[in-house]
Amino acid sequence: MKAPFAAFLLAVTGLFTPACLQPVRRELPPTPLEPKPAPSRTTPIEITLRLSQFEGADSLVLADAAGEELRFQVEGQKLRCSTGALRNEFLLRPSARALGIDGLPYRGALRIFLRPEGGMRAELSVDLEEYITGVLAGELPLLRSQDAELEAQAVAARSYVLARLKERRTSSLGVFMWDDTRDQVYKPLREARSAPERAAQARLLAAVSATSGEILTHGGAVFDARYHASCGGNTSSSNKIPGSASVQCPGCSEASLGPTEWGFTATPEDLARVAKGLGIGDRVVTIEPTKTLPEGRWAEAHLIGNTGSCTTSMNKLRALVGGKRFLSNDIERLWPHPGEAISSGLRIEGRGRGHGVGLCQDGAHELATRGWTRDQILKHYYPSTQLQHCSSARLL
Ligand SMILES: [Zn+2]
Repeated sequence: MKAPFAAFLLAVTGLFTPACLQPVRRELPPTPLEPKPAPSRTTPIEITLRLSQFEGADSLVLADAAGEELRFQVEGQKLRCSTGALRNEFLLRPSARALGIDGLPYRGALRIFLRPEGGMRAELSVDLEEYITGVLAGELPLLRSQDAELEAQAVAARSYVLARLKERRTSSLGVFMWDDTRDQVYKPLREARSAPERAAQARLLAAVSATSGEILTHGGAVFDARYHASCGGNTSSSNKIPGSASVQCPGCSEASLGPTEWGFTATPEDLARVAKGLGIGDRVVTIEPTKTLPEGRWAEAHLIGNTGSCTTSMNKLRALVGGKRFLSNDIERLWPHPGEAISSGLRIEGRGRGHGVGLCQDGAHELATRGWTRDQILKHYYPSTQLQHCSSARLL
């Protein structure tokens, strides 16, 4: 694209301020939870959100609501913008209008730069409450969501992100959040296309506003409020999370939700992939649990392959088999049975979806439908926590 036309495009679309094509300073943007001391009500908290769809990509396209586009391309050791500019990195500062990515409005400053390992990386610096709005839109089926369910999810999501970032400040991972299931799914609210969608979005925004800044704490510190899709009857505790508890889930166990069971047969090809992934050969001979949680979920399994054996976490095993079929570690039946020789495939049947720790989204929906309040839902799934404003909790 010729530079004069690009300048015209930017002026017409109003997507960006002129600063967007200026080289940015080499320093990283401010990390979340800064500056010290702990933020007050008036201190905004910015979340650095890594956009997974562009991780390692060679090109990235942004568009405004009118469909005009701006393209970034890896060119040698630099990035080329379709305006003609060649930089190490670009910082796009949206003005009154949000950035358009895949038809969704992203609000916040977007930094695009090259990864040390190749390809590009895009990180959005987004306000905490805007982030929570996008997480609710990404994590819940909005049209059916109840007010109390939305509010409980907002508090859980806010607690979770602040706990994750606190943890990452002392790790080598970097202080950022993925926008997918590695952390929390983030999907900015699109323009509503129907009256029910408009009403659902209004409820979502009201829930975020009603809980603004509210988080769960345990012992005065922000609580790592995990949540999952469906527990199948009982939630799980985690020995890595002080204060986490296993509770019975009335929403799932008295199911008007429909069946929570699932089952599938892992093929010899699936099992070969597992064996290779674990370094125990190309065939799984036996599998059995070596550690189970009090509510019966498998925590670790021991697998014998044709050339070796190993003990692995269920998270790793589920990922190797395929998390879209192997929906949880709440296993009810195996055939052949645990410890018996597997001659061909392995039938696995279980309950629930997800890791089972903390709030059960299906259960919270059911309880909200029955009239439970936000506080009742949170107290049920996170019984050892208190509700606090983030300005008065230990965040660092
Ligand atoms: Zn449940």
